[in-house]
Amino acid sequence: MSETLNLRSKRVLVTGAAGFLGSFLCERLLAADCEVLGVDNYHTGTRRNIAHLLDHANFEMMRHDVTHPLYVEVDEIFNLACPASPVHYQFDPVQTTKVCVHGSINMLGLARRCGARILQASTSEIYGDPEVHPQPESYRGNVNTLGPRACYDEGKRCAETLFFDYRRQHNLPIKVIRIFNTYGPRMHPNDGRVVSNFICKALTSEDITVYGDGHQTRSFCFVDDLIEGMLRMMATPENITGPVNLGNPEEFTMLQLAEKVIELTGSSSKIVHLPLPQDDPTRRKPDITLARNTLNWEPTIELQDGLARTIDYFERLLRSKNVIANEKPLPFAATA
Ligand code: NAD
Ligand code: UDP
Ligand code: UDP
Repeated sequence: MSETLNLRSKRVLVTGAAGFLGSFLCERLLAADCEVLGVDNYHTGTRRNIAHLLDHANFEMMRHDVTHPLYVEVDEIFNLACPASPVHYQFDPVQTTKVCVHGSINMLGLARRCGARILQASTSEIYGDPEVHPQPESYRGNVNTLGPRACYDEGKRCAETLFFDYRRQHNLPIKVIRIFNTYGPRMHPNDGRVVSNFICKALTSEDITVYGDGHQTRSFCFVDDLIEGMLRMMATPENITGPVNLGNPEEFTMLQLAEKVIELTGSSSKIVHLPLPQDDPTRRKPDITLARNTLNWEPTIELQDGLARTIDYFERLLRSKNVIANEKPLPFAATA
């Protein structure tokens, strides 16, 4: 009997499975012989991202909004459900806070009932517009609680609090990762985030929209590196809870990024400047000492290579007109 139990695959729940990161995570878990239950309400994710997994014997997809309770039996939970692009999370800010807070409470309640491990996809946004550079996990952040980004920043901060309270109050095995800007194939073409925006504009010869003077910085991590770090974090001993920063410490200005995308696509697009959105962080770069020491992890894919792979994806996507024509357009504007 116990042998049978040991041979059973691990049952893993991925919320936000049809999103950019969620779809890659499901693939990696299936490759590791897990039984994967994907949950998504398709708010910003698309069926296209997980279409190739639907016939897999160990994969099941459920349409569900995590702000409502969910009763399933699982061993591990990766809680990724939440819009991640500023354009998306500001479209319905109240819903964004609900996903972060109510969604986390439901997933933590589920983990508690099942005795499951649970990992929270937190974010570098909890540091706000940082006054400490690069950002270590010990930095407590500089968030404007009243601004347009607060629905996400404060929602994610509250989610972290909930995770640590469930740990203290119910001894739940929790893991918290703080993800810094991650990019790659399967980002939504109307996502509004800088990498997908610049690439899609470059490929369609439209002006590349740099917000502000373009001297603000971000550090970009390719999706494969990020998923590897996420899986390593989930596999750590129970006493390791995080939060752990996961991101690529190589820092670029948005102007440098725009120039790189133009160079790699050979595009004739021009750079134009648009107003900087309110509370846009001036600079961001992870201190990944903790991830290096605890997870033996660091990114391996250079921006140049990751961008080339992402450009290749968008080239194919933009060519397949049927895919775009049949796709439900997102209800929000793609650009500022
Ligand atoms: P994404 O928008 O592509 O994916 C999010 C997924 O969650 C989508 O499929 C969406 O439909 C789903 N979702 C949203 N609300 C939901 C709800 N109420 N119920 C069920 N599903 C819901 O974004 P992503 O880049 O894949 O981000 C995944 C997670 O990682 C998010 O929690 C995000 O905050 C976090 N994160 C991402 C980054 C990044 O750079 N990609 C950085 C920091 C944190
Ligand atoms: N919950 C869920 N699935 C479960 C168990 C709980 O969705 O399998 C939700 C339910 O909505 C509950 C919340 O998680 O209110 C928090 O659960 P917890 O056990 O922490 O507290 P409760 O609210 O039940 O006292
Ligand atoms: N940005 C830009 N042009 C765009 C989209 C974004 O210059 O078309 C800038 C944005 O103002 C920010 C940076 O790129 O400074 C990263 O934006 P993104 O929305 O990708 O993520 P953020 O890190 O702000 O959450």
